Amino acid sequence: MIYLDYNATTPLLPYARLAMVEAFDCLGNPSSVHSHGRAARKSLEKARSQTAEYFDLAPRNITFTSGATEANNMILKGFEGNVFVSAVEHDSALNIRKDAAIIPVDRNGIVILDVLAQLLKDSSTPALVCILAVNNETGVIQPIDEILKICQSNNAHLHVDAVQAVGKISLPWQNISSFTISAHKFGGPKGVGALIINGPLQLKILIEGGGQERGVRAGTENIIGIVGMGAALATPQFDWQKLLPLQKKLETSLLKACPDAIIFGREATRISNTTSIAMPGVSSEVQLIHFDLHNISVSSGAACSSGKVKASHVLKAMGISDELSKCALRISYGWKTTEDNIDHCIAAWINLLQTQAKKPKEIHDA
Ligand code: PMP
Repeated sequence: MIYLDYNATTPLLPYARLAMVEAFDCLGNPSSVHSHGRAARKSLEKARSQTAEYFDLAPRNITFTSGATEANNMILKGFEGNVFVSAVEHDSALNIRKDAAIIPVDRNGIVILDVLAQLLKDSSTPALVCILAVNNETGVIQPIDEILKICQSNNAHLHVDAVQAVGKISLPWQNISSFTISAHKFGGPKGVGALIINGPLQLKILIEGGGQERGVRAGTENIIGIVGMGAALATPQFDWQKLLPLQKKLETSLLKACPDAIIFGREATRISNTTSIAMPGVSSEVQLIHFDLHNISVSSGAACSSGKVKASHVLKAMGISDELSKCALRISYGWKTTEDNIDHCIAAWINLLQTQAKKPKEIHDA
């Protein structure tokens, strides 16, 4: 079995697994004052410190959540003021505020900076800009430094969905107003993440109850998941640059086999672990089934959208036709991926291409 769907979720890191197994024996509720409760609190705060240390921030900036979807909802629904979101955001940010203005992107999926600047100039404050640092479908990297400057000069808050960026690229963590992370995208468990806020940002509280997480997010903390996330961040990080030769080999081979294939966002700066490619005329569903039959797990786009026949809103925003975007395949790789895995993927893709090329001829012959 070959796993090439790291942008959907990543394998659990050994240290995260170990820390979680130990945390299963943590009996207390971190809100209890007795010794069991204090032990649970200690594990929770250790994970908060590990998370804070990773980003070189204070532990109090971190609010644990059930994942990035909740964290994006918290900031977007909690913010009172004008909201601007890019057209290529993940669904957990794009569709949350119905009153949000959409920032357009160019054909490579990069936010059009002049338009953003103009939108902010025309807007009354307070304003919140929400940008996805690394696109989960295409791997395209947004120019966060430049976007930050535009936001700062217009007194707008910048919220970054950093889900696909953590561990892979460095961002100005201390200068952006807030950001979102999700443990299962960097070797931690599923169902846990955080909203990290720098400095003063007034938010409406969405989940009220027992006052956990400084009253910002009530509910007994998911100790096991949080401990796993802290441990994943405390694990020496994989050097994602090591994947560049594999990405190059994969993309060069696929384009050589099919010069008509399109790699989305190819002219932009992209992350080293993602290839979003369309094999014209062959639907994503057919490609997914073919790869699955070859024991290779890939995706047709965003995992959350898999199964939907709908064309990707990310590719649509980049001006790609629905017809072509319905032929897209996302191949995403990581620390366990070998050259042999990539060779198998190339072979399966070429095999499908050849099968499809024969089809019209057979029909014609018949
Ligand atoms: N943002 C991005 C960019 C993502 O890729 C994902 C997960 N597909 C999310 C947000 C949602 O994260 P979670 O699974 O933690 O809810």
